[in-house]
Amino acid sequence: MKNIKIISYISIVVLFSACSSDQASVNNETNLIDNKIDSLLSKMTLREKIGQMTQINLTVIAKGPNKWSSNDSMEIDPFKAKKAIVDYHVGSVLNTINNLAQTPKVWFENISNIQKFAMDSTNIKIPIIYGIDAIHGATYTDGATMFPQQITTAATWNTKHAYNMGYVCAYETRASGIPWNFSPVLDLGIDPRFPRQFETFGEDPFLASEFGKAIIRGYQGENNNITNPTKLAACMKHFTGYQATISGKDRTPAYIPDHVLYEYHIKSFKAAIDAGAKTVMINSGLINGIPVHSSYKMLTDILRNELGFEGVILTDWEDINKLCDRDKVAKNRKEAIKMAINAGIDMSMVPYEYEEFINLLDTLVQNGEVKMSRIDDATRKILRLKIELDLFNNPVTDFKDYPKFGSEESNQLAYDAASESVTLLKNSNSILPLKKGAKILVTGPNGNNMQSLNGAWTYNWQGKYTDMYVKGIPAHLINKANNAIESDRLLISDHLSPKSYQTIFGSLSNIYGEENVTYLPGVSYKKGGSFYEMIENDIQSVVNSAKSHDYILLCLGENSYTEKPGDLNDLNLHKLQLKLANALSKCGKPIILVLNIGRPRLISEIEPNMSAILNIYLPGNLGGSALADVISGKVNPSGKLPYTYPAFPNSLSTYYYKPSEIQNNNQGAYNYVGELNNLYEFGYGISYTNYEYKNHKLYKDTLNFNDTINISVTVENAGSMDGNEVVQVYTSDLYASITPDNKRLRAFSKVFIESGKTKEVAFKIPVTDLSFYNENNENVLESGDFKIHIGPNSKDLSSFNFSLKNQNE
Ligand code: BGC
Repeated sequence: MKNIKIISYISIVVLFSACSSDQASVNNETNLIDNKIDSLLSKMTLREKIGQMTQINLTVIAKGPNKWSSNDSMEIDPFKAKKAIVDYHVGSVLNTINNLAQTPKVWFENISNIQKFAMDSTNIKIPIIYGIDAIHGATYTDGATMFPQQITTAATWNTKHAYNMGYVCAYETRASGIPWNFSPVLDLGIDPRFPRQFETFGEDPFLASEFGKAIIRGYQGENNNITNPTKLAACMKHFTGYQATISGKDRTPAYIPDHVLYEYHIKSFKAAIDAGAKTVMINSGLINGIPVHSSYKMLTDILRNELGFEGVILTDWEDINKLCDRDKVAKNRKEAIKMAINAGIDMSMVPYEYEEFINLLDTLVQNGEVKMSRIDDATRKILRLKIELDLFNNPVTDFKDYPKFGSEESNQLAYDAASESVTLLKNSNSILPLKKGAKILVTGPNGNNMQSLNGAWTYNWQGKYTDMYVKGIPAHLINKANNAIESDRLLISDHLSPKSYQTIFGSLSNIYGEENVTYLPGVSYKKGGSFYEMIENDIQSVVNSAKSHDYILLCLGENSYTEKPGDLNDLNLHKLQLKLANALSKCGKPIILVLNIGRPRLISEIEPNMSAILNIYLPGNLGGSALADVISGKVNPSGKLPYTYPAFPNSLSTYYYKPSEIQNNNQGAYNYVGELNNLYEFGYGISYTNYEYKNHKLYKDTLNFNDTINISVTVENAGSMDGNEVVQVYTSDLYASITPDNKRLRAFSKVFIESGKTKEVAFKIPVTDLSFYNENNENVLESGDFKIHIGPNSKDLSSFNFSLKNQNE
């Protein structure tokens, strides 16, 4: 029997030792807040408390139709607002009014108006808390800085960019009068089929935790002091296991044993809770047949009691109704409300039928089916959040106090993140960078497209109208886009001053000269169609044009999508895109493939014919210029994949697979090689320079449970260009009481190394990081033999053996 130490008590030790001189003032502050909450609660009726637990969509109180896709301009309807906020005491509003982004001024006027109903016309005078999905910048605000999507940020392997994104996004969301952000996504992006993989920080729990902590620091500030009007309350989502469905489709069933949940899916949430995340949104799907919104075990036993989360627990969209309407675990809406509130939900994103929610919850409390203490507990947490955000004194922040909204400085930070994320996957004969004067044919549906650079949650939910807000395409096409939108009856009059950002084509033209760069789409996305609908333009004309150019820049990928509309039936790139690539492969010109994708779509069929491949993910408005700077060599690429890039549809796995994924047999008639065929490994990405790893040192090869692993390596930049390299450290447990993972990422560091110079990179990893959850859900550290690996990606590694002993052995 191996020697085991159960280490789950560690967090408790840390808790008790955290006594500092600032503690007294923190305690004082906490007492003041508690007193204020007690005083408010003592004055509130049951219905006022339930109102606080209710979140409605803005369309419910706005002029125009009460539906998400309303196209009306943003204006509060006083009758509807009075009914919801004054008569029903609704305490929270979310979303935007229509399919268009609003200016900060329009946001300010409307939220001010809403707050007037809450603060002037009610007895209790509790401000509304407004929430929004500002997931890569202030999504629904015209003129806001659009950062790369989270997956792109993770590809930088530099958490500074997550912090910057959080920092700017908090400022610009507050400039829009909004204090609560439904971000970050802390789900693991383990499945390339899932339509929201781009919203994650990738497949690895450690990477997701490190980036999650950094973005929360950006949102909530160093001390989580969200009273500061440039900070906001973060909402980690979607707790938990959301992207681990069997089908790879949104909100479909997942089957996850508890120890798997703890070992992988809970880790990033635990790190965010410890970092002070104020709120959480629940997984809209179901695990092991139980909708997460109805699970007392998930919400109260695990999230509240074990993980120690003290903030507000919010449902996802309509998810209480879904317990009855979709998942059939409640026989009616009343039963559904009872289940969810008793399971631990504090606030329901209703978001439409609020009268029903409030009336039914009222009856449930009157009948004793939901305890008053549960209502008080939920209301207390919501009031605390509102007090901490200083909403009682400052119910809406004024755009005039935010002069840096959409500034050059903020856009520069978004550019920095985009340029550091570009991941060079192939560069045959060092074809890149391309010299000045090169004649380049830009082709493919993503070559002249701002929508695909940004992805969803950009000005609009599905990111469909991006080209209206940003001038990335020639003027005549902007007019065409606007006409199409007008025919959709959208009000565009206020929105015809698109900001000037460049598409890939525009950015390359700036660098190489308009006379040297041509754009022909070959195939394009169908205007107004779903994300996968494509039309063929004239592939032959692209082939003909290629003859008079030196290089083809083939820009393939996806158009914007998220959630159910982004569900996928075929992981291969669209067949028209493959057709274009295959036609161009025959014309004898070198092709540089640019992948502008929200998830790793399969390219194995065309990959051998590509001279170079650059993955730019979803880089945001500055992505075109970041890519052009990489192509011209102004920027040396340094991104690394935050996920495994698969080669085949039936070979999908994370890098931390179990050994049985690879089973070889070379005896007799039954020869087979069971290798996992990935196209590119997790952590992979090359550079224009080359790095040599030497002088690897593992300082001790026998360690005990209290030790720290010290490992270092010297990296030489042996090429002719300065660059940034990501050094990665993995460990493998050789034998364990449950089958160990192939390997696990334990540390990483991105270092700048000048050409011809060397740098020593050292890591200290506490041995306790090697613990894992066993079959009984205990977090255990087991003695035995291990390997530690260090290198530039998860495959090309130098490995050392070490053993771990329990000092009592
Ligand atoms: C999504 C959430 C989002 C919410 C509010 C839901 O459909 O799953 O991520 O925060 O809508 O827009």
